[in-house]
Amino acid sequence: MQRIVVLSGGIGGARFLRGLRRAAPDADVTVIGNTGDDIHLFGLKVCPDLDTVMYTLGGGIHEEQGWGRADETFTVKEELAAYGVGPEWFGLGDRDFATHVVRTQMIAAGYPLSAVTEALCRRWEPGVTLLPMTDDRVETHVLIDDGDSGRKAVHFQEYWVRLRAAVPAHAVVPVGAEQSRPAPGVLEAIAAADVILFPPSNPVVSVGTILAVPGMREAIADAGVPVVGLSPIVGDAPVRGMADKVLAAIGVPATAAGVAQHYGSGLLDGWLVDSVDAGAVEAVEADGIRCRAVPLLMTDAAAAEAMAREALALAKEVGAA
Ligand code: GDP
Ligand code: CA
Repeated sequence: MQRIVVLSGGIGGARFLRGLRRAAPDADVTVIGNTGDDIHLFGLKVCPDLDTVMYTLGGGIHEEQGWGRADETFTVKEELAAYGVGPEWFGLGDRDFATHVVRTQMIAAGYPLSAVTEALCRRWEPGVTLLPMTDDRVETHVLIDDGDSGRKAVHFQEYWVRLRAAVPAHAVVPVGAEQSRPAPGVLEAIAAADVILFPPSNPVVSVGTILAVPGMREAIADAGVPVVGLSPIVGDAPVRGMADKVLAAIGVPATAAGVAQHYGSGLLDGWLVDSVDAGAVEAVEADGIRCRAVPLLMTDAAAAEAMAREALALAKEVGAA
């Protein structure tokens, strides 16, 4: 059985994973999920990226929105607001609240996040093994302007959800990453993998955060198996989200080639760019990364499946080389 490891953020990763499950239904897929977006709200621990993967693969996602639950209502949020209790900028629905209550309760009882995630997945049956990148607390912070002269760091969710990434970002810091350890099963899954994939997740605040966990990069490089990524940048802009802004903050051009070069040939063996970026293939290959231009828009599950097939085909090609 083919063992595939995928480093995933939220929406981009989850939609790709849905395609991968269709493209390789018999494969054993382990997802290493970003937890740098995790945030405590109303006393509850919320893990947006893990939940997006779990809900998407488990059939509970709000399809159009890409995150949160389908058929959601917001009574609890309204009641909290009536007490003047915020933040009001983070949309937690009633169904979603239950997930965070269960998670927080288990963590308070002493279970690590990896065990909690496994328990939540027993309900959702995502068809993959979903592991948090770490059981330790890592929080992505973004350095923004504060008043006329100063700067301040805010939680990534505040930068993205409250401020809509409309203020300049000067730096992105995964606070706590240096002291974190990969969650149980993470290094084992990487070492046992036949293929490692970087879905078109955010290269800075999703995949970049996972790679910031000590040992992760080395484990991937040492696995000695094909590592193939898909560009989240299509036609010099992210398909959705703020990847261009956080790439600028770390000095990386927001182009399909720029992201490949940022990961580098020490990590990546293969890279897929969208057909509109076919002009980037030569530059990526000049850097020692095998590159192909194929359609990369996940307009539906069939399109995501075709992308996953292309990624696996490229992995096979670089593996045979
Ligand atoms: P998040 O945690 O919810 O932001 O999700 P991820 O980090 O997993 O993915 C976000 C990235 O997915 C963004 O940078 C988008 O540009 C990218 N993305 C979203 N949809 C598509 C798509 O259809 N095709 C490609 N190539 N990238 C996509
Ligand atoms: Ca995210």
